[in-house]
Amino acid sequence: MIPVTKPFLPPKQEVYALLNGVWERNWLTNNGPLVNEYEIRLKQYLGLKHLLFVSNGTIALQIAIKALGLKGEIITTPFSYVATTSSIVWEGCTPVFVDIDEETLNIDPEKIADAITPQTSAILATHCFGNACDIDAIDTIAKKHNLKVIYDAAHCFGTTYKGKSIFEYGDISTLSLHATKPVHSVEGGLVVTQDPELLERMAFLRNFGHDGPENFNGVGINGKNSELHAAVGLVVLNHADEILENRKKLSLYYDRELENLKVRKPKVQEHCGYNHAYYPIIFGDEAQALTAKVALDKQEIFCRRYFFPSLNKVGYVNDYDMPVSEKIAQSILCLPLYYGLSNQEQFLIKRNLLRLQNYG
Ligand SMILES: *Cc1c(COP(=O)(O)O)cnc(C)c1O
Repeated sequence: MIPVTKPFLPPKQEVYALLNGVWERNWLTNNGPLVNEYEIRLKQYLGLKHLLFVSNGTIALQIAIKALGLKGEIITTPFSYVATTSSIVWEGCTPVFVDIDEETLNIDPEKIADAITPQTSAILATHCFGNACDIDAIDTIAKKHNLKVIYDAAHCFGTTYKGKSIFEYGDISTLSLHATKPVHSVEGGLVVTQDPELLERMAFLRNFGHDGPENFNGVGINGKNSELHAAVGLVVLNHADEILENRKKLSLYYDRELENLKVRKPKVQEHCGYNHAYYPIIFGDEAQALTAKVALDKQEIFCRRYFFPSLNKVGYVNDYDMPVSEKIAQSILCLPLYYGLSNQEQFLIKRNLLRLQNYG
């Protein structure tokens, strides 16, 4: 069986070493020493000034929306994981979808201006599959119309833009450290900003608004994360270079082996140092994609329709017509990609895909 992804599991002994300290201190959560150390180490690794470790990538988005005080309409992409849209709705705002660029699969900046109304407060765009949005164009539009920008950078551990961490862009960027993401803390997420005041605001939001034991600075939520998650996170982070290099090697192997397969890959945005988080392939149409999926399922090779459905179709939002996103959602598959996937397994996947194309 070849799953689409497998969580990276570091050597147990490395985690045990940190857990011993947790047991000695009897300090499990509430801004413990491992959480602090994890935040410091993440800042060093990613080259960032400010970040907060939170319970997951979804609460990160919700804290970001809350911290910026967003109201009314938020312009967003229909091609992402459902959390991008659900967070907007959960925070009482209205998602206004803008279709994606067919090549990069990210929100098409040229279509944003038409969607702006007096109620628009922000743009929430996803750097889909770890590939940067057209950040410069989005930035220009946002400045012109006085809109905040949040990037759902859930997929972007290790991605750079113009030589800097991609998390430096936008008013706030968020990351998911969920077990299925390349670098993880089992469950976890980050909010990143360059603005110390926003950081302070988000720190209050993360911890019930507590300002000392008996005072509160505004409404808050429980977005904290635990010493146990930080322990796994710290150990996984020690292997981050290895994980990202492996991902790249596996992706280049697919590139070579699948050269003759009649599919296309998303185009990497100019200035983007891509992290190879996923291996999406786009078929000519939905029938071809589904035929491939069914055939691979039979061989116990499990691809995923990332992302399906297009988020304008989730049922609790206004169903705009998003022809590009809908077409891509129907005709895309992500191939298995994870630490420990072997070249033999990749070869088997290639053989099945090519056989289908040639005789199918
Ligand atoms: C994984 C993911 C999230 C949610 O992250 P969690 O840590 O699972 O809550 C949000 N947005 C995108 C694009 C994701 O892929």
